[in-house]
Amino acid sequence: MADEIPPPIPRDLHCEYEERAFRHCTRCGETLEDDQGGFQISKAYKKGECVMEYALCDHCRVSMMEEFSQESKKRLSDYQHEHVDLHRGLYHCSVCGVPRNEEGVDDFVITGICEGASLLHSIMVCGQCGDGIQELISVKTRDTWRRFVDENFPGPPSEGEYPEIEEVTAPQSLPVFSAQGGA
Ligand SMILES: [Zn+2]
Ligand SMILES: [Zn+2]
Repeated sequence: MADEIPPPIPRDLHCEYEERAFRHCTRCGETLEDDQGGFQISKAYKKGECVMEYALCDHCRVSMMEEFSQESKKRLSDYQHEHVDLHRGLYHCSVCGVPRNEEGVDDFVITGICEGASLLHSIMVCGQCGDGIQELISVKTRDTWRRFVDENFPGPPSEGEYPEIEEVTAPQSLPVFSAQGGA
């Protein structure tokens, strides 16, 4: 594995908004190209449409993790050990294995851990498994996540749209935070 050249970041993990690869950390604005340690890209889809996307530099990823409660971190990492296969890539749920194009799988989150222009790890979590993961997370940790969303996605959501996005994306995006360390 160490000798393999990692693949380039796929189009799937590009920024929809800018129609190109992510260049900056959504949280701090740092240039991702120079990021040492691996940045994270996540995109949440609902009914097949990308409803939220972000990139987090290594520093921001770690500092957000630190804010998660110990209990949540422990549960997520246990869950990952027992249920998550980190080698299924972007097209099959890393928990249940369902393919992304299967009927009824309209909601899912894809995440990549990248360095420079390369993709080191990638996972997909379907909506159903994401719901299960949500139950593992403490209220405090959910608040940390909510704050990130509030601070970084201030765009005036159209009526009734915002809670939906929050519900879908926040918890489902969380397990990847532990993917790096545990992998
Ligand atoms: Zn950052
Ligand atoms: Zn699943």
